[in-house]
Amino acid sequence: MSDAHADLPTAGTGLEPPIAAVRVLNCGRAEQHREHRFGSRTPRLWWVFFSRKWVPLPLQFFLIEHRDGPVLFDTGIDPAITSDKGYISQAIGRFLLPRIFRFDLGEADRIDRVLERAGVAVGDIRTAVISHLHFDHTGGIAQIPQADLLVSEREWSILSEPHPEREWILREHLETPSAKWRQIAFTPTDDPLFDGFDGIHDVLGDGSMILLPTPGHTRGSLSMLIRQAGWDPILLAGDLTYEAALLDQDVVPGVGEAEVLRASFAKVRVLKKRLPDLAIVASHDFAAAELVARATGAAPERGGTRD
Ligand SMILES: [Zn+2]
Repeated sequence: MSDAHADLPTAGTGLEPPIAAVRVLNCGRAEQHREHRFGSRTPRLWWVFFSRKWVPLPLQFFLIEHRDGPVLFDTGIDPAITSDKGYISQAIGRFLLPRIFRFDLGEADRIDRVLERAGVAVGDIRTAVISHLHFDHTGGIAQIPQADLLVSEREWSILSEPHPEREWILREHLETPSAKWRQIAFTPTDDPLFDGFDGIHDVLGDGSMILLPTPGHTRGSLSMLIRQAGWDPILLAGDLTYEAALLDQDVVPGVGEAEVLRASFAKVRVLKKRLPDLAIVASHDFAAAELVARATGAAPERGGTRD
């Protein structure tokens, strides 16, 4: 915690800070190859087929309790991906998935159940920010048909190409009649804090949640900067990295575009220079709950876990 946030809108106006809590919710467990998480010199197809080194991967999404209503950052995974043989329509995807991930998922991991255990009504979610369109971040959109789903224009453009499923973007679960997708364009800013980034998007217009383009994992991946007085700033980084330390050390994972990832890593490290207390929180980092708790002065989240 620090108190170097005098410029942020808050309590000085007699208003409570806009965000009551940031919560890290668990929606299942998986394993991935070591080479996937930490990078490798061996070609991707080699480790997908031949690596026997599996490491645990937590599946998580985030709930921001904003006074205008609860906001999600990503929507978890649909456990039907393991129970429904037809969930992935392409045979190649059904063949490859278990060679890339080993899932441990149950019905209790669907976001309506996860939110219920966290004491939040799924029908109250008005906005979900989608870091990128992979199935483990978009699996809950069918449960929140009332919500605006914010995605970057660049990410959405992948769907207009012939084979988005080759990038694990499953059109059949995204382009559904109930989903209220809102493509966002990043707009230029003269705020020196964001120098180097290709524009920003202020989610609710109060500066508390700022979206930043951080491509590389996918071409339109974004991160969300959460700031409010009394808290250390938090960057929800999606899958830009699997752990903050890897981004610090410039270690790119075994997937994504390495050069684009390194360029985004560099921008985030500059942001951290400007905001030295910045907590960089990756979606699949086991330390996510601890990092958020430390930044906000709350107790680490436990309510969203099923064990
Ligand atoms: Zn992911």
